[in-house]
Amino acid sequence: MIIVLKSGTPEQEIQRINEEFHKRNLRPEKSVGSSKVVFGLIGDTALVEPSQIYQISPFIERVKRITHPFKRASIEFRNGKSSEVIVSTGNGVAVFGHHCPLHLIAGPCSVESEEMIVETAKHLKNMGVQFLRGGAYKPRTSPYSFQGYGESALDWLASARQATGLGIVTEVMDTEDVEKVVEVADILQIGARNMQNFSLLKRVGSQKKAVLLKRGMSATIEDLLMAAEYVLAAGNPNVILCERGIRTFDRQYTRNTLDLSAVPVLRSLTHLPIMVDPSHGTGKAEYVPAMAMAAIAAGVDSLMIEVHPNPAKALSDGPQSLTLERFKRLVEEMSTISNFFGRELQKPNLTATLQRMYSKHTTKIPSI
Ligand code: PEP
Ligand code: MN
Repeated sequence: MIIVLKSGTPEQEIQRINEEFHKRNLRPEKSVGSSKVVFGLIGDTALVEPSQIYQISPFIERVKRITHPFKRASIEFRNGKSSEVIVSTGNGVAVFGHHCPLHLIAGPCSVESEEMIVETAKHLKNMGVQFLRGGAYKPRTSPYSFQGYGESALDWLASARQATGLGIVTEVMDTEDVEKVVEVADILQIGARNMQNFSLLKRVGSQKKAVLLKRGMSATIEDLLMAAEYVLAAGNPNVILCERGIRTFDRQYTRNTLDLSAVPVLRSLTHLPIMVDPSHGTGKAEYVPAMAMAAIAAGVDSLMIEVHPNPAKALSDGPQSLTLERFKRLVEEMSTISNFFGRELQKPNLTATLQRMYSKHTTKIPSI
C-alpha cells in the first residue's frame, strides 16, 4: 500500500505518521521525492481499509493499493518516479537512472590474464567507458568448459581498477564468494542462470554494493521483478535490471532472442534502472551494434557489451565479442543515436576530453 503525503507536510507530522504505522504493525518505508514524501507499507495490508489510513492525518493526500506481487520494485512504490542507483568508481560517481546519462559497461566475457584485462581497461577508458566488465567465476553449460580464473581473476580486476579507475562489474555465482567479490566489484552481477537462486539474492541483498540482475533465459518479466524484490526486501535498494535475451525457438541464427519490448514494459512497471546486454542477446558480434542502438531507441538506461582484444582467441563468448576497434566505432554511433533521442551518453572522462582539446593547440597537457 502506498501513502502519499501532501506537499509541505511538516517534518514532525511525517514522523508522527511513521510512528502511527509502526503502532499498527504496518512496516513503513519512507521515500522522499522532490516535493512529496511517500510511504510504502509492506506486509499484510489486505485487511487495512484506506479510510482507516486517511484518519491518521489530514496531511495524507492519497492511499493506493499495489496490486502487483512485486511491491518494492513497483513504480507505484516510488509514486511513479524512476529511482537512481549511485555507484562510486575510481573516477568519480556514476548515477544509473532514467533521467541520467546512458552508461556503458564493456569488457571481455572472462578475465583471461592481468595484462589482458589491464590493457583492455585502458583502451576502454580512452573511449569514455566508465565500467569494466569481466567474469572471474563463469557459469558454463558444460563442466568441461573454462570456468574462469576465480580469485586470481579478481586480483587482476583489482589491478585494472587501480590502473584506470574504471568501476568493476563482475559476476558472483555463490553465496560463499560474495565477500571476496565485494572487495573488488563496484557492481555485483547476478547471471541469468542464477536469477532465481534465492539464497544468493538474499545474500547480495544484505550487503551494500549495487546489484546487476540479469533476466533468466526462461524468466517472465514478473519473474525478473520478483527476483529483484528479493534483493530489495533484503535491504539493498540498488538494483539494476538487465535484459539479456530469452530462449525462443530459433537457435540457428541467434543465441537468444533479445526481448527489447521488455524495456518499455519494465519502464511502466518498475522504478529500477534498466540495462540491455545485446551480446548475450544475439550471440553474434555482427548483430550487436544494431541491437545496441535499438536498445537506446527503446529507452534503455545502460548497455553492457562484450569487447575482447582478440575475439578469435577468447576463452569464452568470442563469437559475440566486439573487437576494440569495432567497439570504438559503436561508441560514436551510440552517441549520435542517444543524442537523437534526447539522451546523453555518459561523459568521456575529463582527462581524455582535455587531452583532445589541448592536442589541437599544444603538446603539453596540464595536470588535473
Ligand atoms: C556474462 O555476462 O558473461 C554472462 C554469463 O551472462 P548471462 O548470465 O546473461 O548469460
Ligand atoms: Mn559472456
